[in-house]
Amino acid sequence: MACISSERPERYNFAAGPAMVPAEVLAQIREELPSWGDTGFSILEQPFTGPLFKRLMAEVEDDLRGLLRIPNGYHVLFLQGGASAQFGLLPLNLLQPGQHAAYVESGHWAGKAIREARRHAEVSVIASGADQAFTAIPAFDQWRLDAGAGYCHITSNETGNGLQMQEFPRLAVPLVADMTSDFLTRPIPVERFGLIYASAQKNLGVSGLCVVIVRDDLLRVPPPGLPSVFSYAMQTEHLSRLNTPPTFALYVTGLMLRWIRHNGGLEAMAAAARVRSRLLYEYIDGSRLFKCLQRRQDRSAINVCFQLADTALVETFLQDAAQNGLANLAGHPAAGGVRASLYNAMPVAGVRRLVSFMTAFERQHG
Ligand SMILES: *Cc1c(COP(=O)(O)O)cnc(C)c1O
Repeated sequence: MACISSERPERYNFAAGPAMVPAEVLAQIREELPSWGDTGFSILEQPFTGPLFKRLMAEVEDDLRGLLRIPNGYHVLFLQGGASAQFGLLPLNLLQPGQHAAYVESGHWAGKAIREARRHAEVSVIASGADQAFTAIPAFDQWRLDAGAGYCHITSNETGNGLQMQEFPRLAVPLVADMTSDFLTRPIPVERFGLIYASAQKNLGVSGLCVVIVRDDLLRVPPPGLPSVFSYAMQTEHLSRLNTPPTFALYVTGLMLRWIRHNGGLEAMAAAARVRSRLLYEYIDGSRLFKCLQRRQDRSAINVCFQLADTALVETFLQDAAQNGLANLAGHPAAGGVRASLYNAMPVAGVRRLVSFMTAFERQHG
């Protein structure tokens, strides 16, 4: 008799995003999809104005507040348009007349945030890693922040460049962070930030949802020309239900938050991220074929980016890896090479498999 297993075959998805979702969460989605709770209807069919969905949103917010220890005085918004929409919405929502915005250029995503912000406001780049080809986070003492800035924008984890900020500065102006790729992978001192935002499809499930955590004093009357659904103040007033929120993404986010809680919360997520990334970096640092160009103290625990000494081997590496069940390892198109994205859902076993594959590959080609 054939043995039919409901478990997924041993394949690991290293995609940068949308990324791996834990098997338990996928199983729960599958089980609940035809009928959510005892409603008799799918989660896809629930009115967002109904009491049950309102309760789901309140629970998602409570879980997020609990995990991140979000202090009073901060609002949690569930918006659409992804992190890229916030690139433009930040200056439109946060700057007062006459103010400009300060940005730290740490890599690909910071660059995109800067270019979009420039379409809407005056922007000053107060520090840049460009002269080091974005292999290091610019040190705080090189940031040239002036008091006229309405906010200072950072990218906590550069998904395409494999860099991660290990500490956050205390600044005289509100600190604004794109945390899309390392959101909920470690505890964060939320009180040091004016605003934090993150798209959901990397650590929180599916695309379509962007979480924005904003300090109360930064909310202001929307300027003329800003659509109401994109106003942080108006969405706060309407509890993120000014229009239909991304309901399925919110539901999956709720499951992801519960999964994180059941697996030990953010301290446990951070510990697991350290174990995973150390395994890989230690192997790369001892290897002659693979090399990591990022400065050690700035290396990302989430997106491990590396090159092959012989660049002609990259294609072969990616193809062989995929054939061995190690999928989506191509580096960001702008960076080339290899990128292993190790989000919360990636088990240590997946990294061990990758390291043993790399060991065999190096023996064959090195
Ligand atoms: C993926 C990513 C984005 C883009 O998110 P979208 O939801 O596609 O807009 C922005 N910033 C960072 C750091 C990312 O990793």
